[in-house]
Amino acid sequence: MSGTAARMAHSYARAWLWQAAAPCALPVFAGLTLLLIPLAVIGAHEAPTPTASSACSIGGTGATVAGIELDAVQMGHAQTIADVAAARGLDAYAATVALATAYQESRIRMLANDGSSPELTGEQATVTATSLQYPHDGLGSDHDSVNTFQQRWLAGWGTVAELMDPVYAAEAFYARLVEIPNWQTIPLTQAAQAVQISAAGDAYARWAPLARELTAMLWPTARAAAAAPAGAAPAVCPGLPVAAGSWIRPTAGTVTSGYGSRWGTLHAGVDIASPRNTPVYAAADGTVLRAECTSDYCDRDGSPSLAGYGNLVELDHGGGVTTRYGHLSAYTVTAGQHVAAGTLVGFQGSTGNSTGVHLHFEVRQDGVPVDPVPWLADRGVDLRSSDAA
Ligand SMILES: [Zn+2]
Repeated sequence: MSGTAARMAHSYARAWLWQAAAPCALPVFAGLTLLLIPLAVIGAHEAPTPTASSACSIGGTGATVAGIELDAVQMGHAQTIADVAAARGLDAYAATVALATAYQESRIRMLANDGSSPELTGEQATVTATSLQYPHDGLGSDHDSVNTFQQRWLAGWGTVAELMDPVYAAEAFYARLVEIPNWQTIPLTQAAQAVQISAAGDAYARWAPLARELTAMLWPTARAAAAAPAGAAPAVCPGLPVAAGSWIRPTAGTVTSGYGSRWGTLHAGVDIASPRNTPVYAAADGTVLRAECTSDYCDRDGSPSLAGYGNLVELDHGGGVTTRYGHLSAYTVTAGQHVAAGTLVGFQGSTGNSTGVHLHFEVRQDGVPVDPVPWLADRGVDLRSSDAA
């Protein structure tokens, strides 16, 4: 791994492996795993809709790329794949080949493998199943294949521990890609097949439009990260045209409780509710003041008798303005980190003083809470609209 990639690996360990959130992140991964098991199975039957469009949802639900919906987790892995190409000094086409491959192999999910393939010996199955110890978004069971690219430790791609690192996985893909003669000029499918040694036929070519549009969205951020690896955490939707200083809706969902007096105390923010683990984004550029469990426990849902915000992220936007994101199931940033508007900071949950899954969102001016609804309305964001445009 090059020095640049090593630094990037470090930054992505913070941003995407969520080690900072370790105990709190487990429910997220467990939940995602349950949700996504069918993906690896049904993926082959999906087809992109014919309408090509690239749009990043300000509502924080991910992006629609070439007519295919990608959520925040997929976009994050896609950004990592692009970033590693840029860090290696490869041109954008390398990322396009890698993204088409990853979409075909895993739908750009970090897949663990429980070793249940009948092709494996007991010992091989045991080693393969160690992949479950690492953060993952779903399960696959094809031989000993793991990760976004379905790389095989038995085929010499690396150890299971290495392969479950998204940066290593992308590094390993590119290391083999650049060894393919004329990889830049032969058809994408041939290049991908040569790397993967796969019998998948034309499968990779099918995702070329998606991969091209994704690359166009992610490459500017990837190049910026390569130029300044210790710099800002990339936004999940880097193609989103958020002008400097502007504000966005922090999460998808409906406002279920407004700002103001409630049962004799001040409800200092608004509650916005969506399904568990809906991504939560920085509402504006800023610096992370804290990302921590503020209740007695955050490894499970809280209750009305538990005090505190549960998992809380607080951002400083300058000029005395701060925002708070409470009850998160897990957070994905660390104190001191710079975030752009639209950076993933965590996921909706119900930790702390909470009775159901939602985001508790606060805006404070010089420490004094203000009503976020008119605050954001003045900045062009309508929280009352049930979802984002
Ligand atoms: Zn609230």
